[in-house]
Amino acid sequence: MTGYRICPLCESTCGLEFKVEGGFAVDVRGHENDLFSRGYLCPKGANLGALDADPDRLKTPLIRRDGELVQATWDEAFAEAARGFAAVREAHGSGALALYRGNPSAHSLAVTPYLRPLIKALGTKQIYSASTADQVPTQVACGLVYGSAAAIPVPDLDRTSHLLILGANPAESNGSLCTAPDFRGRLHAIRERGGTVTVVDPRRTRTARLADRHLPIRPTTDAYFLFALVHVIFEEDLENPGPHGDRLTGLADVRELAAVFAPEAVADVCGIAAADIRATARELAAAQGAAVYGRMGTCATSYGTVTNWLIQVLNLLTGNVDRPGGLLFPVSPTRAAYLREQPFRMGRWHSRVRELPEVFGEFPVATLADEIETPGEGRIRALLTIAGNPVVSAPNGVRIGELLPGLDFMVSIDPYVNETTRHADVILPPPRVLQSGHYDWALSSFFVRAVVRYSPPVVDLAPGQPGEDEILARLSLLLSGQDGDTSALSESLVTTVLGKSVKSAGSPVLGRDPAELRAQLNGSSPLERYFEAMLRLGPFGDGFGADPEGLTLQSLLDHPEGIDRGEMRPRLAEVLPEADGKIDLCPDAVRDEVASLAAGLRGDRTGFVLIGRRTLRSNNSWMHNVPNLVSGPQRCTLLVNETDADRLGVATGDRVRVASGKGAVTVDVETTLDIRPGVVSLPHGWGQRSSNGRLGVAARAEGVNANALTDESIVDVLSGNAVLNGVPVSLEPEVATR
Ligand code: SF4
Repeated sequence: MTGYRICPLCESTCGLEFKVEGGFAVDVRGHENDLFSRGYLCPKGANLGALDADPDRLKTPLIRRDGELVQATWDEAFAEAARGFAAVREAHGSGALALYRGNPSAHSLAVTPYLRPLIKALGTKQIYSASTADQVPTQVACGLVYGSAAAIPVPDLDRTSHLLILGANPAESNGSLCTAPDFRGRLHAIRERGGTVTVVDPRRTRTARLADRHLPIRPTTDAYFLFALVHVIFEEDLENPGPHGDRLTGLADVRELAAVFAPEAVADVCGIAAADIRATARELAAAQGAAVYGRMGTCATSYGTVTNWLIQVLNLLTGNVDRPGGLLFPVSPTRAAYLREQPFRMGRWHSRVRELPEVFGEFPVATLADEIETPGEGRIRALLTIAGNPVVSAPNGVRIGELLPGLDFMVSIDPYVNETTRHADVILPPPRVLQSGHYDWALSSFFVRAVVRYSPPVVDLAPGQPGEDEILARLSLLLSGQDGDTSALSESLVTTVLGKSVKSAGSPVLGRDPAELRAQLNGSSPLERYFEAMLRLGPFGDGFGADPEGLTLQSLLDHPEGIDRGEMRPRLAEVLPEADGKIDLCPDAVRDEVASLAAGLRGDRTGFVLIGRRTLRSNNSWMHNVPNLVSGPQRCTLLVNETDADRLGVATGDRVRVASGKGAVTVDVETTLDIRPGVVSLPHGWGQRSSNGRLGVAARAEGVNANALTDESIVDVLSGNAVLNGVPVSLEPEVATR
């Protein structure tokens, strides 16, 4: 039997094709007919079968008995979860419960719809996720500028003539907040059609190597560089906001703020010649359809929100937002077009210990340890994790690992016993990838082309095995003091959507009977019916018969290669909370930060700083138990510039002790000319030695936990995002080998 599915392992969403043998995927290839990825896949996707068949995956729940995690039935595990959470709530209140979600949960069909009832049942504001060690500065910057909770423009990769990339390495990561299978091929295509690609990165990455120009910037100085571009654009009267210019407010304020950031003033700070900065600004302004795009290097850093605000400022000043060939706002197939976007809000409440603001209802993961450790009312006593491994992926995750054993209770929804879940009292393993349906709720807002796809489960659940939706629903019920049949909760998700849709102005089903709509849903599970309802009410949906050409679940099932609804199109008025809304080029929140940034022009920048890096075969901590993905040359090495290496007296293969203000690791050196002097690089997600032997492959892999070096006490002030790049470190050769 041939199976198809969208790869859930990164944001590229490649279509995969494979043989199903004995319930597992073998011979995994890129699906040649997939209308989005056209046969592309990376080594991770090719190993989806091995990941799914990993013998270390849990097949039954585990519960802690006499200090040991032992196998249990599902009923025993749920009963233990209910007992443990109830005991903590009884003693300390709901505010002592906390939730942490890891990155893979963003790729789950079940987590998005069931998250709201779960959080409601927990009854706590102690909500955390990996987002605050990742992309939140982009979301905050866009929220402040566009005033919308969901307006993030995406580079029009397939039509742009000029792409300026900062702090992103899509040739290895396959792209993020810009969903584009074969990102690397699309970058090549820009150059083949006469466009230019410029990469600004401390390291000559795989992406930088295929660009027209690489500017090796000093880490943490992207904001200075971007401000200098803004400065040149104003100084040389190059601003041209285009048709949306009348929406912009604060133009004069930005001009004033940019005054002190002349290229000549920031050149030494950034380590980039003023002439190169000026040339970059002029090229950007002159290009017919250009995009400035930044990712992790611009987010997980001090001034992350200011940096991402400046990216929006540049894109708006040059008239490239909402412009084909520039940046556009993709249409999500499951976001009802008749609903207006919600206004962006943050800081509605603050964390207990450090008073950091919530963003999208979450506190920064950088303060999770504080909230577990600090006594007082509201101290976290019980934790639920979903597909998360903060001990490895959060800043100073080592501290979190030291605190988890002190919790009163912990439950993890996770397929593995890893560095984090080994501390849980109950582990509930979700089904394998092939046993689950797939649709990317979140990523569909970042697709560079509207190709709509859905992957149904390929393999049935085992008798008695719950789907991830059932696990989440059952936990939600238990946390609400109920138990038993989850179907009522699942059904309520569908009926709530339908009930709202028949009352919403502009809805294709306005005034119809929700029961009649419900009867038209054909999905094979509550989760699939929920997806079906959202799809049919979405911008490409059939509106339950209103548009006979529109999409239904069946049309997607009939077309595993996807249904192409075309290129992104200008639609700014649709994504602003008000159709005639303004765009705030200079939000109040960034002004104080800009003053602090300006003061930093005189800062001391001597000594080594650490940055992260991505590799094609890895994705955070969740790919290292697949032999094919960790075989070959060791990838968790410390990249050191050859000049620095000579000065230290180390060579490739030597061991060096790397120390920060938070911790130290000893790691193999790899010397290179592809990194700025004074900068060293270590990938994260490694060093998985502490899984109690339950990750047989990852525990044997060489490598160290980069988050033993990062500092949770330092965050991007505006968003609370973790600072994972630009960490000051010292290097000490372990043995002088030369
Ligand atoms: S790039 Fe690789 S991991 Fe990402 S979706 Fe495609 S095959 Fe999967």
